[in-house]
Amino acid sequence: MALADDITRDIMLVWMREQARPALREIKAAVREDGFARAERLAEAITFRPVEPLAPLIEAKVEAAFTAGALNFARIAKRDPARVDAEFAIKSASQQLLTTLTSTGEAAITKRVQKVLSEAQDGLVQKAEIPGLAVKLNRAVATGGRAIVSMSANLTTTRMAALGSLLEAEGQGFGTYQIQEHIQEDIDAVCRGMHGKTFNTREGMDVYMRQLSENDPAALKATFPFPRGSRDGLQLLASLSDADLSGRGIVGPPYHPHCRGIIVPADTVPTSELVSFAALLGQAEAAGTAGALATIGE
Ligand SMILES: [Zn+2]
Repeated sequence: MALADDITRDIMLVWMREQARPALREIKAAVREDGFARAERLAEAITFRPVEPLAPLIEAKVEAAFTAGALNFARIAKRDPARVDAEFAIKSASQQLLTTLTSTGEAAITKRVQKVLSEAQDGLVQKAEIPGLAVKLNRAVATGGRAIVSMSANLTTTRMAALGSLLEAEGQGFGTYQIQEHIQEDIDAVCRGMHGKTFNTREGMDVYMRQLSENDPAALKATFPFPRGSRDGLQLLASLSDADLSGRGIVGPPYHPHCRGIIVPADTVPTSELVSFAALLGQAEAAGTAGALATIGE
């Protein structure tokens, strides 16, 4: 979704300016002056803090994702959008996104920068000027930062758009809703099987509210693990009824980062497009290898 890219770009710009560039300047100076011990300590100071300048930005973007979901649902339902009070959900989602960036960002970026430093130290510690070090450090920070922001923003955007759709569904009196995936050749098995499934609007809302209110990324992962498209994963999914799926919090996208599924009014997806998990499992087994199906990443 374009909005997630937009969030990524804006967060990266603020973060690079406020945090990453000043830290990198210090690290490079430390390498030139006292060598590597100080530089490695400084690498630990690259985090997504200070988050202050990011907070209002994230809140605005999260709200945009929510509104986009609500409007999209209303457009497909061809009715006027209902007024929904989403303040709590937006605040929770913004907080969750900030927490995820801060806690997972710190460790990942530190590791990348320290790797560059230790490689430089191993090979070139005697030289006053280390060729390419600045470029490698910049790349380690920018690439690491982008990966984390992009994934976190993308998951949050998808969940916010889904919640916006569901609050709209509830406002308009839709007791159930349907999942619509973007069907394409390389679609992963979980998304393919979820395409067209129908769930209860209230139950769906409860799940998304719980997900978006969870500020601890580890707890979120433990409570709502992504369903897997491996053979074992499909075997499990094939054994679950739709009520079981809902009970496990599998009520809609995302099932993986960069999931393109959305929430639509019930009876939008043609029945002919539905494929059961049992059928997908059968296809995987007929193909002789579960590896033929994409395994869902963390
Ligand atoms: Zn998907």
